[in-house]
Amino acid sequence: MSRTEFLQQFVLKVASRCDLGCDYCYVYRMADHSFATQPRFMSAGTIERTADRIAEHVTAHRLDRVEVAFHGGEPLLAGPDYFVAAARTIRDRLPGTRVDLLVQTHGGLLDESMLTALADHRITVGVSLDGGPDHHDRHRRRRDGGGTHEQTARGLALLTGDRFRPIFGGLLCVIDLANNPVEVYEALVRHRPPEIDFLLPHGNWSRPPPGRSGDSAAPYGAWLCAAFDRWYDASPPETTVRLFDDVIRLCLGRSARGEQIGLSPASFVVIDTDGALQQVDTLKSVRPGAAGTGLHVSADSMDDVLEHPGLRARRGGVAALCATCRECSVVRICGGGSYVHRWSSTGGFANPSVYCPDLQDFIGHVVRRVSNDLGPAR
Ligand code: SF4
Ligand code: SF4
Repeated sequence: MSRTEFLQQFVLKVASRCDLGCDYCYVYRMADHSFATQPRFMSAGTIERTADRIAEHVTAHRLDRVEVAFHGGEPLLAGPDYFVAAARTIRDRLPGTRVDLLVQTHGGLLDESMLTALADHRITVGVSLDGGPDHHDRHRRRRDGGGTHEQTARGLALLTGDRFRPIFGGLLCVIDLANNPVEVYEALVRHRPPEIDFLLPHGNWSRPPPGRSGDSAAPYGAWLCAAFDRWYDASPPETTVRLFDDVIRLCLGRSARGEQIGLSPASFVVIDTDGALQQVDTLKSVRPGAAGTGLHVSADSMDDVLEHPGLRARRGGVAALCATCRECSVVRICGGGSYVHRWSSTGGFANPSVYCPDLQDFIGHVVRRVSNDLGPAR
């Protein structure tokens, strides 16, 4: 294994359940329902074994920095004391290594005691927010069907106040074609997030995302272009948008930070609530068991995960893509899009992204705008 082959992000599914019932949730509403057999919360013992595995990996690859993200379900259901103990366990086992801890939440459980615990232990908070009340409540609903914007906005108001703003990590927004892109961007940026990320809704060739019919129309490309222009033209700049930033970085020959686009090798692993080591969690949108590796923190190392064929496929660069992508003029920027969006029940992952026309249009638009601004220097 070469020196550059290592993992830097570790996603801990600390809670397998959620108190909401969002209709696009890949954990509960798509192909894989393994959450039902998982423990409700990751045990203290599993967190210890996971931290030992991360420490082993850090030592083997002489890493000076790792990121550990607490995900769910809804991770904050575990309560403030859980995060205090988890942060101590992980940092105690990694002395001399910078450990960035973060939690991704729906925000409705952020209160004074939770935020105090997270702030005291330098745990950054990312919140899922799909825009203003009408945008957000279209999909992000309680189990009784009621909207959740109000409770998320209450949590966000506390998080973005003077006291807790230093641990505000940013906003995650799933795109809905029914929502106006400029209005959505403006509803998000009102909270002055350090970063926004727009996510394409999960889908694939066998289960197309809403509004993608398999033809050459590019509705998501148009949505992204409009949001990009609103963001790019803001003066002074208002925030970072990870997907937009990544496309610009790739245009300029640098690498992407996210996994939605580009050819950066997969650098993270998911540890399920029972300690099973998994590939990217969103593979649960594809078919039952698709995210599994058969490995477990009690028996297997992080280097073992890197040898898994699924991880290797996501670290193979252009050569690992299908023939259509390999010959595509924007492959160095697009990278075939997100791995999970390439799936079809007949061809597996050897396809372009189900969002191919959208990605082509959006990347072409960004290339034109950036090229115009660079002028003769480009
Ligand atoms: S808050 Fe997240 S985990 Fe919970 S139902 Fe919604 S998308 Fe799924
Ligand atoms: S998904 Fe489409 S745009 Fe992206 S590299 Fe493949 S062929 Fe090109």
